[in-house]
Amino acid sequence: MLPIYDIEDQVLAAFGGELARVVIEAPTGSGKSTQVPQMLLDAGLAGEGQIVVLQPRRLAARVLANRVAEEREERTGQSVGYEVRFERCVSKSTRIRYITEGVLLRAMLDDPQLSHISVILFDEFHERHLYGDLSLAMVKQLQQSSRADLKVGVMSATLQSELLNDYLAPCVEVKSEGRMFPVEMEYLPKAPRADLWDEAAAVWQDCARQGVEGDVLIFMPGGYEIDRTLRAIENCKESRDWELHALHAELPPERQDAALKSYDRQKVIVSTNVAETSLTIDGVRTVIDAGLARQARFDPNRGFDALTIDKISHASAEQRKGRAGRTAPGRCIRLWTEADHRSRPGTTAPEIKRVDLAEVLLTLHGLGVDDPKSFDWVEPPLEKSLNRAEHLLSDLGAIAGQQAGSGLTPVGEKMLKFPVHPRFSRMLIEAGQRKCVQPVAIIAALCQGRPLMIRKVDKRVVERRDDVLGEEDLSDFFRELRAFEYVRNKKFHVPMCRELGIHIATARQVERLAVRLVRQADSAGLTIQDTSVSEADIRKCILVGFADQVARCKDGGTLRCDLVHRRRGEIERGSLVRDATFVVAAEITEVEKSKGDLDVLLRRLTAIDSSWLKEIFPDECVVEDQMVFDEFTKRIEAKSVTVFRQLIIEHSGVVDPDPSRAAQLLAEQVIAGKLKLKHWIEAVDQWIVRLNCLAEWYPEAELAPIDAEAKQSLMEQICYGAFSYKQIRERKVMPVVKSWLSEPQQALIDQMVPERYRTPDGRNLKLRYQVGKPPVLAAKIQNLYGMEQHPTLVNRSVPVVLEILAPNFRPIQVTQDLPNFWKDTYHKIKPELARRYPKHEWR
Ligand code: ADP
Ligand code: MG
Repeated sequence: MLPIYDIEDQVLAAFGGELARVVIEAPTGSGKSTQVPQMLLDAGLAGEGQIVVLQPRRLAARVLANRVAEEREERTGQSVGYEVRFERCVSKSTRIRYITEGVLLRAMLDDPQLSHISVILFDEFHERHLYGDLSLAMVKQLQQSSRADLKVGVMSATLQSELLNDYLAPCVEVKSEGRMFPVEMEYLPKAPRADLWDEAAAVWQDCARQGVEGDVLIFMPGGYEIDRTLRAIENCKESRDWELHALHAELPPERQDAALKSYDRQKVIVSTNVAETSLTIDGVRTVIDAGLARQARFDPNRGFDALTIDKISHASAEQRKGRAGRTAPGRCIRLWTEADHRSRPGTTAPEIKRVDLAEVLLTLHGLGVDDPKSFDWVEPPLEKSLNRAEHLLSDLGAIAGQQAGSGLTPVGEKMLKFPVHPRFSRMLIEAGQRKCVQPVAIIAALCQGRPLMIRKVDKRVVERRDDVLGEEDLSDFFRELRAFEYVRNKKFHVPMCRELGIHIATARQVERLAVRLVRQADSAGLTIQDTSVSEADIRKCILVGFADQVARCKDGGTLRCDLVHRRRGEIERGSLVRDATFVVAAEITEVEKSKGDLDVLLRRLTAIDSSWLKEIFPDECVVEDQMVFDEFTKRIEAKSVTVFRQLIIEHSGVVDPDPSRAAQLLAEQVIAGKLKLKHWIEAVDQWIVRLNCLAEWYPEAELAPIDAEAKQSLMEQICYGAFSYKQIRERKVMPVVKSWLSEPQQALIDQMVPERYRTPDGRNLKLRYQVGKPPVLAAKIQNLYGMEQHPTLVNRSVPVVLEILAPNFRPIQVTQDLPNFWKDTYHKIKPELARRYPKHEWR
């Protein structure tokens, strides 16, 4: 009997409770995924409703449904069914439904109450996929509001139980230890030199020669690596006695099922991490782990997610190892070194911390969550990613603005119908209107994977490309499109692809994806037939998908350009788009040159016409007067311009500058030190410093200091009415600055913090003021004869710092206690000084 039945009573009691929130933790193979839904159904806990089991992986949803249907001696789709993104197998009588995480949210768009559902089980929650997190948050919200009767369970082999217990409190936790046999662990002694698939095959060959018992499970990051591994194994003669199987999501279902069956011969399964915890394969005694996984993460170059191959975490490696010890003691060989292992992370970051949130935010808006920042996330995303996603949705026209609370626009509503990144749903919707869905679907597909055209190719291939595909173009995509059509017409013939340096696997992937996108467009009700497609229409579709990356190229053969939202960039050499003033870039790379200094490179360009911006985004093209200070003519230039998201797209003439705005611009130039006023002399600055010092030393006078803002405003007063440097150069300064104070206040300044100090010998010595420091008076000894008291300012409250100088103006002492100087130091130094400077008076 499966271990889960040891805790059946607890499980049923927990789900039978008042507010059913249950966390189930049990090792892989215990029977969570296949048995818990059946237990609940058979105990009548689902009432008349459905039990929905959320799976992070499509493959697992289908396999589990088949298995459970088989256990109930039925066909899949009767009482047990499944539904994944592009496929569903359910009927009216379906009671247990295995679905992928995105499907639930889509269901909520149609039926926010989820009225047919009684129980929702989140399986494999430790994987922490974005949609899993989000679905749990939405379901919690629903259970707290109108569906208190909804029963919610979260299941996993390893849970972050602290996080979940907090998040779901009050909840019941049920645990099973399960059974686990010891697994012997081995690392490679040194980093592998061969390709990983050859390494894995060699390790497997050793095992086969040694005559291991049971089946062998090999983990590889993806379909390609799995194929290579199987080919390498096939080349070993030992493979003749073995069953060889691949297991990953891209395979046809029959082959996936074949991998899970048991045979009377020993079997090798080469799998992605779907076999890590999602699916249990009975009979495995040896695990060979390449230690890598394909993961989605935000790719800042493309502005959406890319799949990267990453080293797996300790937690993942531990799970994979466990697959060898389910039925008997086993062995796990890790294809990396112990030193490498120590450098790996403990756990994998949840998706919400690493992927693009645009698609998910669109769905959230669709569900009525218009302020994602205050949403009750399982773990909140980074604010930066949230802002980026909101910004993009607003630029794509899916939401009305970026303020909290902005809901979906009609276009946004339509975009919800496409389970793809919002850039591409936006493009497809536009394509539907312009009747060019087919080519736009290919372009969208081209954006997703590896580049179709290999970047580094020799001169021969470049020439051949230019011959076959053309050199100059209005969009870099057009050439990719032609390249794709070329290979498709040649039936993906390998040598022909090679001649043009085209990635054949990518081309096939593009084909599959494009077909899928067209199908989605069709089911979303778009016109997918296109008769005569215009290139301009395709370019307009590209524009709407990347409307946040529109740029205006500078004149004069430079590659520099201005982008919307006041960014600046440079066009990467090698684009086929030449001499276009306006372009839209499908890829933007930011390279940090030095601290804070970014190189922004634009790639995959499409030429656009500025009139299209006005046609497609009429509300965002605004006419405004712009004024600049021309550094060359040193004059204020005012123009009326049309701007699209802060990028000037059209100059429509010279206008009269607004005098206060002109004064403001001139004042900024003066304050920045770029223009000098003849009468802004040191005395002016000193007067301001004196005022600011007095304001601090003598708060009773309630003087308003002149801070940066006040200085700007005074400067604007000085510059008012002028439109060029020439007109302000000789303007009076001091009277305006002094007008900051009333006349009695001005007199107070002269009295309390005078410019000069009168010494007993009748000289007026200059005082030095600095904000935050005491005033300083530098005086020769001879100036000070007769001064008994230490000099002070501001009604004796602020002592002056005296720099006492010798006759050669060298400082002898700095003091705030003159009487003490006379009494002490002076007598000691006087004889020597008198000898050196006999011509001076020495008292
Ligand atoms: P858990 O979800 O706890 O990892 P499962 O419910 O998936 O466990 O599986 C429980 C047991 O059922 C497995 O140990 C295995 O013996 C059996 N089993 C599950 N799915 C299949 C399948 N597709 N083919 C054969 N056996 C299966
Ligand atoms: Mg499971």
